[in-house]
Amino acid sequence: MTKLFVISGSSGVGKGTLIKAFLEKHKDFKLSISCTTRSKREGEIDGVNYFFLTQEDFGNCIKNNEFLEWAEFSGNCYGTKKEYVEKCLKRGENLILEIDTKGALNVKKLMPEAHLIFIAPPSFEELEARLRGRHTETEEAIQKRLASIKLEIENSKYFDYKVVNDTIENALAQLEKIML
Ligand code: 5GP
Repeated sequence: MTKLFVISGSSGVGKGTLIKAFLEKHKDFKLSISCTTRSKREGEIDGVNYFFLTQEDFGNCIKNNEFLEWAEFSGNCYGTKKEYVEKCLKRGENLILEIDTKGALNVKKLMPEAHLIFIAPPSFEELEARLRGRHTETEEAIQKRLASIKLEIENSKYFDYKVVNDTIENALAQLEKIML
């Protein structure tokens, strides 16, 4: 039986690194590719990291009810296509959705069999330091992200599992216990 996991956590919490480490070890899992209207960061590839859509194309997908869920985050839109998820599961792939907490709760409503996992930072201060350490965003963008962190933590109480990312080794072991 294939399984659907939804992993959420605030920006800078290290969930990307953690998921990458998990996927390298477990080849029978696949990371779902979302659609977004945000611009590409250096090194990102269309169809690999995201499907990069124009505002207009994203709007058309909303109108046509093509998204399993979608959300606006830091002024950009992100969404997961229903058809994409269904195809992956049908092909027998265990799928991981790396999306925000609001999106995760929406997925759970439509697909109650999905397992929701929240990746928590050891502390708020540590998370802020990690976010600034990335040097990929303006101060304004960082402030917006920090403001949304509190909401993410609030939403996480409805999740099935919580993993504290204190060290990558510990967090990966916790993740494996849940997912395997
Ligand atoms: P980033 O711009 O850093 O790649 O992602 C920003 C936020 O968007 C992250 O919290 C990420 O989990 C979330 N995100 C990425 N894809 C999706 C999606 O398909 N749906 C939702 N709701 N959030 C997403």
